[in-house]
Amino acid sequence: MHEARFYISEKEGKVRCTLCPHECLVAEGKHGSCKVRLNQDGKLFSEVYGRIAALNLDPIEKKPLYHFFPGQQILSVGTAGCNLHCLFCQNDSLSQHGVDENRHSITTDPAALMRKALAVPGNIGIAYTYNEPFVFYEFMADCARQAHQAGLRNVVVSNGYLNPAPLQELLPLIDAFNIDLKAFSDDFYRRQTGGRLQPVLESLQIIAEAKKHLEITNLVIPTLNDSAEEFESMVQWIAEKLGKAVPLHLSRYFPAYRLSLPPTPSVLLEKFYRIARGYLDFVYLGNVSDDTRSATYCPNCLAPLITRHRYETNLNRLTPDGKCADCGYPVPVVLN
Ligand code: SF4
Repeated sequence: MHEARFYISEKEGKVRCTLCPHECLVAEGKHGSCKVRLNQDGKLFSEVYGRIAALNLDPIEKKPLYHFFPGQQILSVGTAGCNLHCLFCQNDSLSQHGVDENRHSITTDPAALMRKALAVPGNIGIAYTYNEPFVFYEFMADCARQAHQAGLRNVVVSNGYLNPAPLQELLPLIDAFNIDLKAFSDDFYRRQTGGRLQPVLESLQIIAEAKKHLEITNLVIPTLNDSAEEFESMVQWIAEKLGKAVPLHLSRYFPAYRLSLPPTPSVLLEKFYRIARGYLDFVYLGNVSDDTRSATYCPNCLAPLITRHRYETNLNRLTPDGKCADCGYPVPVVLN
């Protein structure tokens, strides 16, 4: 096991983890709420350092990232555990279990993972994803450091539930983020995820202020976060605080984990798409077959710059230096 960072010793052998806003007080022999940080003899350990539970070469669009090396592939890695406990979790087999409950995990180290990443032809880097990467912070940071030294990119797909100090420290190592903004209501966060809204908003602002590549995903769930007024407040906040060029992915919910509500109706997604387009330059529908609403349009002349069909990406009207081929408008897409 690898000693964790970001904790302080308390009375009676307890430790307080300060990695995420839960700030769990962990008694000896116990885990924090994420199930993968363990107090052993008054020290906090990460049980998921080098314990990979999922490893795949994925299209970058699957993260989803649409404005970061479009059409390329990235080696994607995940472990076990999560600091949120969303009732609708779409990846609960990894995220809602500790490392010992995950029979498929393999043990590795950053150097071995790097050799694998470099051996894959056409791979642009490493995506830390599947479960919540912040709960394997130490492993992610060590891998990301080596990846940069090897000329690879690092991508984080996260719920954004991290304290500011560890996030600030991580920023130089990460090239692109996709952060879930699950709703624009603290009540939703408390009831449905066990977290709070404000720390996620703060993480988004820290990432945007650092000028890191940022995209946002919002899973639209019928009856739980389908208020048009609340949604409009959210996209207005994104435009004002983060910028209207931040891509927003509206994702269709399907029944999963502890939630059995029916899937999001297409008409609701289309309505939210229209609302979001009133504030943001780049809005996409995900988890649906809708080529029209998964294309990137020029904000100036509306030419379709990048078209997508499932995971096939066509940069037909985007110039190699990232401009609209029709009107020359510079589009915020990272191409190299
Ligand atoms: S990272 Fe885990 S142990 Fe640490 S505060 Fe968050 S939930 Fe608790």
